[in-house]
Amino acid sequence: MAALDRIARGVRAHRQTVATDAGVTVLQADLLRALHHGPPPPALAGPLAADLGVSQPTVSDSLAALERKGLVERRSTPGDRRRSTFALTPDGDRLAGGLRRADDVLADTVAALDPDDQEHVLRGLLDMITGMLDNRILAVARTCPTCRYFEAGTDGPRCSLLQVPLAPGDLRVDCPDHEPV
Ligand code: SF4
Repeated sequence: MAALDRIARGVRAHRQTVATDAGVTVLQADLLRALHHGPPPPALAGPLAADLGVSQPTVSDSLAALERKGLVERRSTPGDRRRSTFALTPDGDRLAGGLRRADDVLADTVAALDPDDQEHVLRGLLDMITGMLDNRILAVARTCPTCRYFEAGTDGPRCSLLQVPLAPGDLRVDCPDHEPV
């Protein structure tokens, strides 16, 4: 736990600096990254809030601030004027791309690990994510072990949707095709 705490603090501090340099809050930066990369559309305030582990009013306020900054645009849903989806503007897309590139320095620390260690760490983290989901600490996990298409199999894990074997390094953490068990 102490090691995870230390890593989380490092990631948070790094992202705080990057967000401040970009002129947005940490949550606004998280929203820009989420809209750039996922979750799968439609990008509604509710699913975005669940994904980021914050309340819907908090996300709605941050989306409104991003709208005012010209980084996000609101689109009304045909037939339901109260439900809006959100998308990046060209400026928002550029900024989100920069925010994601700033995370490369974090990815480099993982890439520096021995490949076997990377697989062991990934497997352990996926098990922890499953445990946190079971204990309702996390509301959303788009991981292979929590997916209805995940098959343990006698010859090793497989994805029954994509019809491919899942080698340890192929297990996904944020799969757009994920469906909860
Ligand atoms: S659909 Fe995605 S998350 Fe689900 S088992 Fe296949 S690869 Fe994994």
